[in-house]
Amino acid sequence: MTDNSSAKTHQNFIGGKWQDSISGQVYPVANPAHTSQVVGNFQSSLPQDAENAIAAADAAAKDWASMPAPQRGAILYKALDIFGRRAQELAEAITMEEGKPIADAMGEVKRAMNIIEYAAGEGRRLFGYTTPSELPDTVAYTVKRPLGVVALITPWNFPLAIPVWKLAPCLIAGNTVVYKPASATPLTAVKTVEIFEEAGLPPGVLNFITGPGSSIGNTLVEDPRVAGISFTGSTEIGTAITARGSELLKKMQCEMGGKNAAIIMNDADLEKAVPGVVQGAFGSTGQRCTATSRAIVEDGIYDEFMSTLIEQTSALKIGDGMDESKDVAPLSSRNQLETVLEYIGIGTEEGAKLTLGGHHLQDGEFADGYYVEPTIFEDVKPEMRIAQEEIFGPVLSVFKASGLQDAIRINNDVEFGLSSSIYTRDLVQAHEYINTSHNGMVHVNAPTLGGEVHLPFGGLGSSGIGQREQGTEGFDFFSETVTVYIDHSAGAKERSRFI
Ligand code: NDP
Repeated sequence: MTDNSSAKTHQNFIGGKWQDSISGQVYPVANPAHTSQVVGNFQSSLPQDAENAIAAADAAAKDWASMPAPQRGAILYKALDIFGRRAQELAEAITMEEGKPIADAMGEVKRAMNIIEYAAGEGRRLFGYTTPSELPDTVAYTVKRPLGVVALITPWNFPLAIPVWKLAPCLIAGNTVVYKPASATPLTAVKTVEIFEEAGLPPGVLNFITGPGSSIGNTLVEDPRVAGISFTGSTEIGTAITARGSELLKKMQCEMGGKNAAIIMNDADLEKAVPGVVQGAFGSTGQRCTATSRAIVEDGIYDEFMSTLIEQTSALKIGDGMDESKDVAPLSSRNQLETVLEYIGIGTEEGAKLTLGGHHLQDGEFADGYYVEPTIFEDVKPEMRIAQEEIFGPVLSVFKASGLQDAIRINNDVEFGLSSSIYTRDLVQAHEYINTSHNGMVHVNAPTLGGEVHLPFGGLGSSGIGQREQGTEGFDFFSETVTVYIDHSAGAKERSRFI
């Protein structure tokens, strides 16, 4: 039974003012490690709140776009200082509402800070290009312009890093924002907005509303004042949003699910490969979009790989993410718990061999949280649902491959294409894999996880559509390119009749 009576109630932030939703309703968010502990109450916003937030963003758009980009960068540098000051508090908020181990949460805070640092500097590098014109006495060049009002819709699994990797380039590019976090993780979002407010963002530049995506999401996608939508979340919602937004001719960017594989070849260094797979599959409780949910192991090294994998996975300590000695934390919500347990049941029914784990832990310290043991399936066939569908939990499916081509075939035989990795010492094999794997990000001798802030992040197929996030591509999404021709000749001249 949750008690939300003593938890703080947080507000929306619209036009520079913290305010209640016009619904007059709030909803509680509980700690997934101790479900009776409420971390806060949050506004159950209505479509009218979303419209008010869009109106505030629209009203602020012209002035924000005219502020020189290096000055916008200066505000982000201030935000970076405040993030540093509040790092521990942010990490604790992430662990309390999302569940992940505190060390992972602190890693997420550091990642968010790296993103802000990178984006702030880009305020001095929003380059266009110049090129010789085909006409005499003519200057031709391009400039970047903001889109206007942009809606940012984010998931719960990285409640700080994902919003920040959208927000920072979006703001630097001169857009104003309506930000809707996942309903499950609004506390970190509130703190993020507070930091940007304290850093000096003018009123209306960043607007923030909490509440069900199923109702306010449509308003954000459909309102004609919103020019672009950057979404991260499930393939199901992302696909629906892409269809509707594209129909309305909006600029769309959707990062979605994954079914990432690590390939372990016979010549792999197991001292790298096994910890890489363990970290990829069970770190952050498998709730990363880049988590390793499949291991594809060449037959000659299979037995040795499996025995070390089982040994290292069995040694993982499960518990409350606030306890620094724990490696695997609870799942983020009851919904996640039910989904993961359902897939473990499906895998067993489909005939895969449940080699390790599979249990819902409910006794003693686990009684009040959403804990599932790290789980390994063997004898997984590519056509099984646990081989094809995103589980988003601590469940690893292991396949045996007869060689590189077989491994790449299994890797590519899913609708997703976010990330993958190969462990091999053979450069020929590594390059064959790099050139033929159906993934937006590939790793050699490293886990399927993560990425660096100054390099593009995103996937192919059902994993993503639209321009990549992060890197220079991240700024391109949040900008329009305008081509300029200036005729500085003294009189009339012959012009092209082509267009
Ligand atoms: P969801 O798709 O359920 O939700 C994502 C966001 O969309 C939430 O803010 C949600 O709000 C909102 N939303 C829900 N319905 C609508 C709607 N009709 N219109 C507009 N917005 C809506 O995903 P999850 O939060 O469950 O996130 C997990 C998923 O995110 C996984 O599939 C994972 O792979 C993916 N992901 C992908 C990443 C990538 O970069 N490729 C990175 C991280 C996660 P509400 O919470 O209120 O429902």
